[in-house]
Amino acid sequence: SSPFPQFKSLNPNRLTSITIRNHHHHHHHLKPLKCSLTLSPNSINLIKPYIQSEWQPILNGWICSAVSVYSLSRIIPRVGRLSTVTNVVRLRNEGYVIGVLFLVRLVCSYFQQCLLWEASIRAVYKIRVCVFERVLKRDLGFFEGGCGNDVGDVAYRITAEASDVADTIYALLNTVVPSSLQLFTMATQMVVISPVLSLVSAMAISLMALVSARFGEELREISNKANLSIAAVSAYLNEVLPAVLFVKANNAEYNECMRFKRLAHDDLYKRLNKKRMKTLVPIIVQLTLSAVLLAIFLGSSVAGSDFSRVISFITSLVLLIEPIQDVGKAYNELKQGEPAIERLFQLSSFEPKVIEKINEVHVESVAGEVKFCKVSFGYGDTTPLVLNKLDLHIKAGETVALVGPSGGGKTTLVKLLLRLYDPLSGHILVDSHDIQSLSLETLRTHVGLVTQDTTLFSGTIAENIGYRDMLTKIDLEKVKQTAQIANAAKFIETLSEGYATNIGPRGSLLSGGQRQRLAIARALYQNPSILVLDEATSALDTRSEMLVRQALQRLMKDRTVIVIAHRLETVLMAERVFLLKDGKLQEISRSALEDGQRDSLASSGLVI
Ligand code: ADP
Ligand code: MG
Repeated sequence: SSPFPQFKSLNPNRLTSITIRNHHHHHHHLKPLKCSLTLSPNSINLIKPYIQSEWQPILNGWICSAVSVYSLSRIIPRVGRLSTVTNVVRLRNEGYVIGVLFLVRLVCSYFQQCLLWEASIRAVYKIRVCVFERVLKRDLGFFEGGCGNDVGDVAYRITAEASDVADTIYALLNTVVPSSLQLFTMATQMVVISPVLSLVSAMAISLMALVSARFGEELREISNKANLSIAAVSAYLNEVLPAVLFVKANNAEYNECMRFKRLAHDDLYKRLNKKRMKTLVPIIVQLTLSAVLLAIFLGSSVAGSDFSRVISFITSLVLLIEPIQDVGKAYNELKQGEPAIERLFQLSSFEPKVIEKINEVHVESVAGEVKFCKVSFGYGDTTPLVLNKLDLHIKAGETVALVGPSGGGKTTLVKLLLRLYDPLSGHILVDSHDIQSLSLETLRTHVGLVTQDTTLFSGTIAENIGYRDMLTKIDLEKVKQTAQIANAAKFIETLSEGYATNIGPRGSLLSGGQRQRLAIARALYQNPSILVLDEATSALDTRSEMLVRQALQRLMKDRTVIVIAHRLETVLMAERVFLLKDGKLQEISRSALEDGQRDSLASSGLVI
């Protein structure tokens, strides 16, 4: 019944308890190119707790890999001996044994890979959930794009880049045990067969490793650039696709296509470079390997060595190269994954500025007194103050209207009341509690908000109105009641499926006025003591607004209401009217409003 069943089974406390520590963020694309064989332990530390929590499939996967390597090591001497066997029966028997061992190897290697993938994908799932949880806890300022945050690519980081992290984790898990096991086993066999040849091979392999490490470094830079450019494409799409109506209305399809093409083209070259480099590395490795094999083969045939031993040695060497390649791949994967990991965790590694005090107060009910004391606020250090030593005292149960020119800071005042930002100086009190001492949950339960641009989600009407109870049980009676009050019930009942009608992404299947009435109903559903209507009726026609206004009048009796509006009639519902201008409030006498002193009202942005 819950729209998010998977959420219930997740213990968010457990997930958050995985702390994200010791994190510095770098600008990787600005880093100078340097060749180093050391990995920054930082990114591994970030993902380590998530990997550790998947120890079960990891352990099973490693056991499978041990069995697989063991059977492989049993095959090699038999293959070598095969060339000396002349007896047909023995040959056949050896063939059977090799066949069975090979089958064991294949089956085990299948399970090894599946289990390790399972661990990686599960770990990434947990990382995603944790990061998303922390992203939602970030300050509103982050989402409003202050301080140059590009919010557009958050979705990309949590989806595509996080998937790359799965590849990294897999490579890591596959290297730590399976590849090392195979490497060690094959190396031992080679040394046993011929120490001299082993030494020669070791030297050739080291050379090969150095060369590919150099390429790996290059690959990492290139790959990071490719990721950044595709993130830009994704951010662009996130912005433009929801605005398709506007694009079409402006005949801008072609222009947008060109903008997309430019971004995609930028990505094209970066991606091509990445693939070229990625393809080149194994080819270099294989080239070196072929040369070594040829040298050994020719050398030993000239020296007249034991042929079966040479075969065994070469087989071991071929099988040794495989894990070495894996290690190299893992190293590259890790180097490439590092920026992705860091970008992902960067999203969650900031401490929000709006935080609860350790001993925050929970209050069951609030009378609704609101007090702003000398509150100053500005969005940036360099921008002018939006609110300047503003004072406001609203008694419990009072209705107050705020008017003022657009951009005057009305919405900002509301954001401060909800503690979406903290004031630079001054205090905001609710019922004589400083809101900074209240728990955020208390504050935001008792303050109901209807915003200027109504935010609705895809889902049914009932789910939207009962948004607060989304994960528990939506009270359908209450939904209908509030819809009635918000003057939405009538239009809802004309819809084909009533309250179960899906309203499309962002509520796009409804009109602006319908959306606003749903938003009002949603705010009433929580029965807040303090109700803030931030231009909540601006998209309603005069008649609908009147109906809503009448409904609100009934509601106003036992709650504090702050109405931000432009229409005089709406404003006149309030007991007191304030003009917000130049960061300060100034009360307008009702008589001035009722007399309709147009000149004085024009500057307050009122529509008469
Ligand atoms: P109103 O609601 O009265 O129209 P706002 O409170 O939305 O005005 O905006 C007040 C001022 O603050 C405006 O000048 C606006 O440009 C600025 N502003 C609003 N939000 C932000 C933000 N997130 N970052 C920076 N400046 C902002
Ligand atoms: Mg506003």
